[in-house]
Amino acid sequence: MTATVIDGKAFAARVREKVGGHVARLKQEHGITPGLAVVLVGEDPASQVYVRSKGKMTVEVGMNSYEHKLDVDTAEADLLALIDTLNNDPAVHGILVQLPLPKHMNEDLVINAIDPAKDVDGFHISNVGLLGTGQKSMVPCTPLGCLMMLRDHHGSLSGMDAVVIGRSNIVGKPMAQLLLGESCTVTIAHSRTKDLADVVRRADIVVAAVGRPEMVPGDWIKKGATVIDVGINRIDAPEKGEGKTRLVGDCHYDSCAEKAGAITPVPGGVGPMTIACLLANTVTACSRANGLPEPEGLTV
Ligand code: NAP
Repeated sequence: MTATVIDGKAFAARVREKVGGHVARLKQEHGITPGLAVVLVGEDPASQVYVRSKGKMTVEVGMNSYEHKLDVDTAEADLLALIDTLNNDPAVHGILVQLPLPKHMNEDLVINAIDPAKDVDGFHISNVGLLGTGQKSMVPCTPLGCLMMLRDHHGSLSGMDAVVIGRSNIVGKPMAQLLLGESCTVTIAHSRTKDLADVVRRADIVVAAVGRPEMVPGDWIKKGATVIDVGINRIDAPEKGEGKTRLVGDCHYDSCAEKAGAITPVPGGVGPMTIACLLANTVTACSRANGLPEPEGLTV
């Protein structure tokens, strides 16, 4: 079998188009422009790239983008004061504090200072609790993107066996909650899981969110299963020339694609969906804040 490739790049473009359509309606019919504030503390190069592309795509879908760049030695109290200002700013519907924060800051304290209704990353403890109890919440962007692709590919996921490899708060745990919400039978695997290969072989859906290059080989994959590869790992690529690198996922793409029914590539799979879902969450937050109907198909 050769798997269907789930094209995250194309899917993300469709999500952004939907977001753009909803933004245009909010402007035209209600005079409201959704606004996303992104806060970056310090000069971590990867974070700078993420923040830049978030800002660019926010503007592209017609929303207002507010960027706040703070020095690496900013006091935690000053960051909390900025968050308080953004919480109270009616032009700001979504707030994202780019992680990781410098070591002198308490990430939990900072994230939990964001108004949960504006917490477009879905990391606030209230949103975690709401998701865990099956209530309306802001859903973390990466798992939301994975779920959108799974729903699009399968329609109903009810009764399917799903294995999520990884139990982080930003991917593994919320992914498992979402799949449970879809009535999958969910197993969460992690570094202490015994016989991981056997666990994965049971799965109709495998979501790999580990951060170990190509650790899932094709012979762990049940024939016809759907493989969602969240991992983004940079490895040496001497075949491309000296000192060159390339990106790979947590799954060994070629061998998994031989067994799977469908698979997301790396790059071009889950990655592009994450920013698209951030924009979707912002437009959802804006609609909720104004008591307007939520955009269809952009949230859980
Ligand atoms: P993380 O916080 O480091 O969590 C990794 C998880 O993998 C942990 O739960 C860990 O188990 C588990 N693990 C480690 N080694 C394992 C092994 N040998 N067998 C089974 N499980 C193992 O990572 P994360 O933030 O969730 O990110 C995971 C990957 O996704 C990374 O490559 C990251 O770059 C990528 N990512 C991509 C996007 C995107 O937009 N596409 C977004 C976020 C993350 P323990 O809990 O037992 O330590």
